[in-house]
Amino acid sequence: MILDRRTFIKTSSLALGYSLLPFTNIYSNTGQKQIGVCLVGLGNYSATVLAPALQITKHCKLTGIVTGSPWKIPKWQKRYNLPDKNMYSYDTMHEIANNPDIDVIYIVVPTGLHAKYAIRAANAGKHVWCEKPMAKTEAECQSIIDACKKNKVKLTIGYRMQHEPNTRTIIGWANSKPYGKIKTVRAEIGYNVTNPAKTWRLDSELGGGAMYDLGVYALNAARYTTGEEPISVSAKQMTTRPEIFTETDETTYFTLAFPSGAIAHGKTSLGKSMHELYVDCENGWYTLAPFSMYAGVQGKASDGTLLTIPVRSQQAIQMDDDALAIINDTPVMVPGEEGIKDIRIVEAIYKASKNGKTISLG
Ligand code: NDP
Repeated sequence: MILDRRTFIKTSSLALGYSLLPFTNIYSNTGQKQIGVCLVGLGNYSATVLAPALQITKHCKLTGIVTGSPWKIPKWQKRYNLPDKNMYSYDTMHEIANNPDIDVIYIVVPTGLHAKYAIRAANAGKHVWCEKPMAKTEAECQSIIDACKKNKVKLTIGYRMQHEPNTRTIIGWANSKPYGKIKTVRAEIGYNVTNPAKTWRLDSELGGGAMYDLGVYALNAARYTTGEEPISVSAKQMTTRPEIFTETDETTYFTLAFPSGAIAHGKTSLGKSMHELYVDCENGWYTLAPFSMYAGVQGKASDGTLLTIPVRSQQAIQMDDDALAIINDTPVMVPGEEGIKDIRIVEAIYKASKNGKTISLG
């Protein structure tokens, strides 16, 4: 007898003795179960990347939106065939609690607002997907984790690289160490933004700055490449355009020391283009360059090994992985506990830069 997915999941989960969180009854053209996703904040990432990616996911479907800009609604409704009843504002998003079309609320607003809306989403009883960086402070991250635990919903952070197949090979090498012990990691990410728009990305209250916006990729890479948590950090922040970067960092350098003795040198900037992850080991080296762009992530190693698996959409892979965790009631790949670890270090980086001292991370 061939069981359909729902019957299989029900039967196996009952046999294993754990309960399933409910999810919607949407099926794709191919008969695959899909979970309903509501995007919160219809800015650049939602409009140009996530919503298009949701058109090619196998296991999820865009079913709702939350926006503070009502004029955006007609275009989104027309483009994605969204019903009136699934349109929300930030003030009405708690009503999603009563909407069976929506299983997941995906927070894609400025970083300084992640905690506010992620908690609202969890309190609506829906699973929460929260963009990177998880929030501005460790305390905010913890409050999101607590709200999701209290409401028994899953929480995942939008670190798309951890779902990308070439990156996953490198993550695996943290354990298998095919080139021997890791000595140093260099992770550099930056864009030469010649004329930065005066948006929230230059506003410290809303979570702007190179370190929050881009530096977390380098930091996360240092952690997933070594598979270790750093024990100390030193950092330096600077700007060559103080008239633009009045309250946020343009460039941040940071150095992390790991328990094994490995050292990671991170660099992020809004004034210089750079996209490389380089890992030097006792018996060789490997690199991904670019390591964090939406497309074209590729790498090589000292023995000629190539990391060149092509990817149509990192975000589609990420959202399908996260949807399957809901459908199968399995652990998510990038939980809140992963996001909070980075933000704790980001806070230490700002402090270390200000004090000019190495900070112990305990
Ligand atoms: P945008 O500035 O383009 O959009 C943010 C949207 O948030 C706005 O359009 C608005 O949507 C909503 N919003 C609500 N309150 C505010 C406010 N006070 N100020 C400004 N906007 C507000 O940002 P992005 O889309 O580029 O980034 C959003 C999030 O996604 C960030 O956390 C960022 O770090 C993350 N991101 C992640 C990427 C990745 O690769 N994983 C890539 C890019 C961004 P509305 O008008 O609908 O209310």
